[in-house]
Amino acid sequence: MIYDTTIIGAGLTGLMCGYILSKEGQNVCIVEKNHSVGGSIQNFERNGVVFDTGAHYIGGLHEGQSLYRYFKYFNLIDRLVLKKLDPEGFDIIKFADKEYKYAEGKDNFVEKLSGYFPKEREAIKKYINKLKEITKYFPFYNIDLDLNNRNKNDILSINAYKYISSLSTNRKLIDVLTGTSLIHNGEPSKTPLFLHALIGYGYIESSWRVVGGSGKIANFLSSSIKSFGGKIYTDSMVQKINADEKKIKSITLKSGEEIRSKNFISTIHPSLTMKLLKTKLLRKSYRNRINNIENTAGIFSVYIIFKKNSFRYRNSNFFCFDKNTSWETINRNDRVFGNNLFFMTPAISKNDKFAESGIILAKMEFDDVINLKNTTVEKRGDYYKKFKTAKAEQMIAKMEQYFPNFKQNIDKYYTSTPLTYRDYTGTKNGSAYGVIKNSNEPYNVILPVTKIPNFYFAGQNINVHGVHGVTISAVITCSLLLGKKYLINKIRTQN
Ligand SMILES: Cc1cc2nc3c(=O)[nH]c(=O)nc-3n(C[C@H](O)[C@H](O)[C@H](O)COP(=O)(O)OP(=O)(O)OC[C@H]3O[C@@H](n4cnc5c(N)ncnc54)[C@H](O)[C@@H]3O)c2cc1C
Repeated sequence: MIYDTTIIGAGLTGLMCGYILSKEGQNVCIVEKNHSVGGSIQNFERNGVVFDTGAHYIGGLHEGQSLYRYFKYFNLIDRLVLKKLDPEGFDIIKFADKEYKYAEGKDNFVEKLSGYFPKEREAIKKYINKLKEITKYFPFYNIDLDLNNRNKNDILSINAYKYISSLSTNRKLIDVLTGTSLIHNGEPSKTPLFLHALIGYGYIESSWRVVGGSGKIANFLSSSIKSFGGKIYTDSMVQKINADEKKIKSITLKSGEEIRSKNFISTIHPSLTMKLLKTKLLRKSYRNRINNIENTAGIFSVYIIFKKNSFRYRNSNFFCFDKNTSWETINRNDRVFGNNLFFMTPAISKNDKFAESGIILAKMEFDDVINLKNTTVEKRGDYYKKFKTAKAEQMIAKMEQYFPNFKQNIDKYYTSTPLTYRDYTGTKNGSAYGVIKNSNEPYNVILPVTKIPNFYFAGQNINVHGVHGVTISAVITCSLLLGKKYLINKIRTQN
């Protein structure tokens, strides 16, 4: 059997590529190394409680908004149970002494923040208008072909921190506007404004949690793919990508099985792909560039099970800061672990009053666990257990500052580190969001096309990370196989 397209990796990108191509009549095969599909959005269970790995909230899902239109095409809108976050404060930037709420919608966002900063109304307006303007340079964000020729070269090199700092001399306002930077690994010297805009603006449009966990997205996509006749092989690690003098012929799995196909899409980290693909069809300089490209930091996660009916469900996300600075404290050269924490309570259908669980995230560099880099899951020893407990306790103690009696409401907790992500999702050094987007090197990006005519890339390393970003990446890569106009029209007419 020779498939039309074989996709490496069944994370959100791989599943979306599989959905599009099988829905459009291709004979598709997806291979995934793990037992479950979903990659960074898979759910896992501890003590009967379901947790999200990633994708704790999703933006732009109101009828007519960008992701809604894509999710409609993927037949997800009618199947997912979504919980809208508080429109008066979906994200809350919390300092020890005061909190600041982000409100849904452009005008409300300005109104709410102007309430805290009455003299800064014009600066806040300018900020939100700029974010909206930037999204217009990205045609797939708007599913709008007409903007195809809009030149965005100048946009790519605008540095987010520089731009936001130029809007006002009010230090606190700058801290608040950059307060959600953990969700895009904000670094003052590197993060481009377009990344900040594409991720942030979707949430300002509207913010949602998937009731029961974002892994449901993966499960629905996978059942649709199977219903279209696509094949998904789990527990199937790709060990080799085989080429002849002109193109890719097949992949070889760990089991030794060979899968042949006309086209291939890799959704795994490009440097991992390079390791599997030994061919002269790619230049050494290209490989070196991919292998040396910088990646975002990792995440340390604490997954909490609360005592029954003890901790109130919060319909907002919290970005908690120890000191009065946000981006400054998470700069790589000047960072203190746990000074910038994300906290949320997942939405469950059983109970809207009390939270069953909570998730705390903190940025963590691979260097912090590098001495264990040669270990594998469940075999990292006592030092690792102690290290994880110490970090978790440090984060839990900090949460007391924002939520009194936080600790006494905890029944159990579990943790994960960048090593966990590296070993489960195969991302380089446990990087949370993959290849870094850097305003100083706007063209050092990896394109979906390669020099090999039947080999493509897709996913968070190619486009913007996050549910919205990888959805667009899957559509862009599949449009190279199906035709851009054809696919976009299909997506538009599904709405
Ligand atoms: C902690 C955390 C929190 C996040 N929170 C949010 C959020 O709130 N909202 C949001 O929108 N986004 C969030 N994200 C980002 C989002 O989850 C990711 O950008 C997105 O899921 C990446 O999807 P992907 O398919 O590109 O990559 P992945 O999910 O990494 O998928 C790659 C897949 O390839 C498989 N694979 C790797 N190597 C091989 C191999 N050799 N053979 C076969 N299979 C292989 C992996 O097992 C994996 O399943 C978060 C991410 C993290 C880490």
